[in-house]
Amino acid sequence: MKKVLFPLNVEEMWSMWQDNPEAGLLAGGTDLLVKLRSQRIRLKTIICLEKVKELQQINTDGAQIFIGAMTNHQQLLENQVVKSRLGCLHQAAAVLGSPPIRHMGTIGGNICTASPAGDTLPPLYVLQANLELVSPTGSRIVPIEEFIYGPGKTALAPMEVLKQVIIDLPVPGIQTHYHKVGQRKALAISVCSLACYMQLAPDGSVGEARLAWGSVGPTVMRFPEVEALLYGRKISLDILRQCGELASQKVTPISDVRAGAEYRRRLTANLLIRLLPD
Ligand SMILES: Cc1cc2nc3c(=O)[nH]c(=O)nc-3n(C[C@H](O)[C@H](O)[C@H](O)COP(=O)(O)OP(=O)(O)OC[C@H]3O[C@@H](n4cnc5c(N)ncnc54)[C@H](O)[C@@H]3O)c2cc1C
Repeated sequence: MKKVLFPLNVEEMWSMWQDNPEAGLLAGGTDLLVKLRSQRIRLKTIICLEKVKELQQINTDGAQIFIGAMTNHQQLLENQVVKSRLGCLHQAAAVLGSPPIRHMGTIGGNICTASPAGDTLPPLYVLQANLELVSPTGSRIVPIEEFIYGPGKTALAPMEVLKQVIIDLPVPGIQTHYHKVGQRKALAISVCSLACYMQLAPDGSVGEARLAWGSVGPTVMRFPEVEALLYGRKISLDILRQCGELASQKVTPISDVRAGAEYRRRLTANLLIRLLPD
């Protein structure tokens, strides 16, 4: 029989965790409950974050957005600032799981699961999101690419919680995009995904470009050499093919039940073609 605790705020959460140091955290449960059921994880005590008020809000000060870790994917999808300013994150939430999964699963759970296929991760990499981690002794800010260092591996210290995701809101002239390929159009884990952040000059030439691929390596992958190829160029089929050629040599995909490594390499290049203007 498992014990499930429901703290109402962060102070209560620390006190319950200190009394039950072996406890695990549960957000929406869409990853954790699967692992508990298959006995990949065993926990006697669960601390449910559902009612912890400090983890719930989405706020903005005009320059940045602060997304509480317990924000579920449906709330991300419905948030007007996310929709209008963070297109790639909005697109990722739209294709994540199914309506029940989007209502249960949270951005914090997606990040802390640290799956290379996590849909919010490539957008958060190109948006250069920072994560605020809190513990009984204080808080620290960690860039997302330093937080995740392998499949299922994060920089979370014992008794540390992801409080919120902090993102600088892109200025006008920045375009972002996310696309994933799965085995079907809904309720599919990505076989390969691509997020892109591009600064475009009025003449259409690219300033800063950031590209992040999911599901083609142990973590989300970015390649500065590929991004540099775009600098100062106008988007064309030719330049996207050059980027794709280089990126497909650099990714390190595996073959698994969803797809072969060679197919993933091909998708790595082909997803770039979607960046061609209509
Ligand atoms: C049918 C199905 C379809 C799915 N489809 C997709 C999909 O298309 N794309 C996709 O990316 N994912 C998918 N998932 C996976 C899952 O829904 C997401 O990863 C989801 O965002 C996980 O969030 P959660 O709140 O449910 O996490 P939980 O399962 O509650 O937690 C996951 C892990 O993160 C830890 N954790 C959670 N919150 C915090 C926090 N604030 N601080 C510290 N640690 C924390 C937990 O302790 C646990 O180890 C799917 C899952 C299922 C069951």
